[in-house]
Amino acid sequence: MKVGVLALQGAFIEHEKKLEKLGVECIELRQKKDLEQDFDGLILPGGESTVQGKLLKELDMFDILQKRIQDGLPTLATCAGLILLAKEIENQNQTYFSTIPMTVKRNAYGRQLGSFHTIEEMKGIGKVPMTFIRAPYIESVQDGVDILSKVNDNIIAVQYKKQLALAFHPELDEDDSIHQYFINMIKKSTM
Ligand code: GLN
Repeated sequence: MKVGVLALQGAFIEHEKKLEKLGVECIELRQKKDLEQDFDGLILPGGESTVQGKLLKELDMFDILQKRIQDGLPTLATCAGLILLAKEIENQNQTYFSTIPMTVKRNAYGRQLGSFHTIEEMKGIGKVPMTFIRAPYIESVQDGVDILSKVNDNIIAVQYKKQLALAFHPELDEDDSIHQYFINMIKKSTM
């Protein structure tokens, strides 16, 4: 199994370390030609969604990745990655892959709660430590989107088909359960 990690900007190295710890090979996706390699899953890391979206277009990687996600490539998106997958972004006309029918709010916790840590139940996984950094939350979801977790009544984790989208950063905590869950998703989809 190989996982492609979008490595244009943001917290991609932390995801690679997690996957390697769990025995999974990663390839960094930095330019169009990297997309010619075989990979069975995709990670869209946290960072700055506007910068990542711009680079994806400039480097001509956007359309190829969008098609692969639409065609069912298992995808784990965290924070800025979640924003890239949203069909709608509040107060913003620009959207990106638009592959999950949901509306997200960027920087949703304001200045004071810009960053925080909590532990919350996630459907199908159990208690998960969650680190939020200038995080978005999901304001609403449409049919077919499975809500996996809420914090203070706000949706912060969903699954839609083979896309797992999280507002927090599982790569920054010791716990491996999210990455393990994602690896199992990939295994099931390649069986
Ligand atoms: N605030 C960032 C954005 O809007 C996301 C923050 C993150 O990925 N930690 O893209």
